[in-house]
Amino acid sequence: MKNTLVVGGAGYIGSQVNNLLNERGYKTVVFDNLSTGHRRLASRGGFLKGDLGDPADLARCFKKYRFSAVMHFAAFAAVGESVSDPAKYYRNNVANTLNLLDAMRSAGVKNLIFSSTAAVYGEPIKTPIGEDHPLSPVNPYGRTKLMMERAMADYGAAYGIQYVALRYFNAAGADPQGETGELHNPETHLIPLVLDAAAGRRECITVFGSSYKTPDGTCLRDYVHTADLAQAHLLALRRLERGGESGVFNLGNGKGFSVLEVIKAAEKVTGRKIPVKLAPRRAGDPAILVASSSLARRVLGWKPEYAALETIIDHAWRWHKKQRG
Ligand code: UDP
Repeated sequence: MKNTLVVGGAGYIGSQVNNLLNERGYKTVVFDNLSTGHRRLASRGGFLKGDLGDPADLARCFKKYRFSAVMHFAAFAAVGESVSDPAKYYRNNVANTLNLLDAMRSAGVKNLIFSSTAAVYGEPIKTPIGEDHPLSPVNPYGRTKLMMERAMADYGAAYGIQYVALRYFNAAGADPQGETGELHNPETHLIPLVLDAAAGRRECITVFGSSYKTPDGTCLRDYVHTADLAQAHLLALRRLERGGESGVFNLGNGKGFSVLEVIKAAEKVTGRKIPVKLAPRRAGDPAILVASSSLARRVLGWKPEYAALETIIDHAWRWHKKQRG
C-alpha cells in the first residue's frame, strides 16, 4: 500500500485529517516545518520535518517514500495578517505550494487534495454561495488560494495531476475524541479567542465591526467542524483513488451565525459571562460568508455530523480546557 503525504499534518486541520486517515487504514507521512504546527499533534503515521520553501527537503521526502496522493494544509490563513504582510502569504501559499506541485510532477504523483477557502469569493453577490459564484477575493489570503486553484487546473490539464480543492468556510471546533484541536500562536480566530475571554485569559472579546448590513450589524460566518472537514478529505481522496475527475467543493453548513451569536452560544456552553468590546472593522472582512455545500453532499456524499454551533463550541471548549487547564 502506498502512502498519503499530509503536508502541514501537525496543524489544526491537517492533524485531524491525519488521524482520520490512520483510523481508516491509510498509511500517512506528515511533512511539516513545525513553524506553526506541533509535533505532538502529528501523532500517527510517519513524520518528516521539512520546509516547502526548500526543494531539497521535498526531494528527500519524495525519494524516501512512494506516495499515491498528497494533501496540502501547510498555508497561512489569517485574513488580517495577509493584508498587513502579503509577502508572507504569496511566498508560502503560492511560491512554496508551486514547489510542492513540482515535486509531485518529478515523482509522478498525480492526486492532490488542496485546502482552499471561502475567501476566494470575496463580497458575495448572492447567498448562500455556490461554487459557480464569481471569484473576486477581497484580501491577499483569498487571492493566494485562488491563484493556487488556477495553477492546479493548469497543472492538471498539462501534466495530468488530478485535484480536489475544498473551499472551507470557517473551520472550527476540535476533535470529538479530544486528540487534536486549535493551537495557534498568536490566535486570531473568533471561537478560540471567545473561549479565552470566557476563561478569563483575555479581558474581553473585541468585535470587529458592528455596522455591517446584517441583522445585528456583525459579520455572519458559516462555522464548520474540523471533524466534518476531515470526512470530506477522506471522501475526496476516495474519489481520486477511483479515478474521479478533479473538482472544487464548498464545505460549510449553510447557516450563518453573527459574531454576537457566537459569543452568546459560547456563554451558554461555558456557563460564563463573556465581556464584549466593539471595535472598528478588520480590513479584508466580507459581511456575510455562507456556503451552499450541495455539490459536496451530492458528488462526494458528504454529510456533516456536527453542524450545530453549540456542539462545535462545546468541542472547542473541551479542547481549550484540556490544553490550558
Ligand atoms: N472576529 C472578531 N473578533 C476577533 C476575531 C474575529 O470580531 O477577535 C470576527 C471577524 O471579523 C469575522 C469573524 O469574527 O467577522 C470570523 O473571523 P475569523 O478570524 O475567526 O475567521 P475568518 O472569517 O477571517 O476566516
